[in-house]
Amino acid sequence: MNQKSDLEKYVEYGIAGVPEIKGSEKRYWLGEFRERVILALTFEQIYRKEALKVVEEKCKDKRVDKIILEDNVQSTVAEKFMELASKYDKDYKMIDTQNKLGEIALVLASNEAVDEKDVLIKQMPILPDIFYNAKNKKLCKKHMQMLKEEAPLFVDEFQEITFLDRVMGVKCGVCDKID
Ligand SMILES: [Zn+2]
Repeated sequence: MNQKSDLEKYVEYGIAGVPEIKGSEKRYWLGEFRERVILALTFEQIYRKEALKVVEEKCKDKRVDKIILEDNVQSTVAEKFMELASKYDKDYKMIDTQNKLGEIALVLASNEAVDEKDVLIKQMPILPDIFYNAKNKKLCKKHMQMLKEEAPLFVDEFQEITFLDRVMGVKCGVCDKID
């Protein structure tokens, strides 16, 4: 057999300077080992209005134990994630990475190895402006349908106008129509 024992590997890694590699890996992932990371957002992504919703959905994943933010994230934005941590009972901390290795602004991590494959979001889900600027959270049939097709992640933030709403004169937050 050609397989090396754990001890041999350990010795080899030791020579190759694994502690160094692990150190930079941890700086990149805001103090975590990559194997514990479940989701990470870049600075560009965290300032998008959809970021909070994306992170909140992921917080429902029981493996997530903590939310970590890079120290340079604007405090008004950081506060929202702090509230999220408290709502979902996750630990929250801010890390000053100093040696900036990446553009990572936020990490959701487990306390143990989870080996999640895709932790970076290539394409952030987008909530079209018409919904973001809606006057209220009630939608006519047409706009609810549009929301389901274009931004399914956000469907639970809105409701379709009901019979009772109609009686009460509630109008669609997007188009002002009643059905
Ligand atoms: Zn409408």
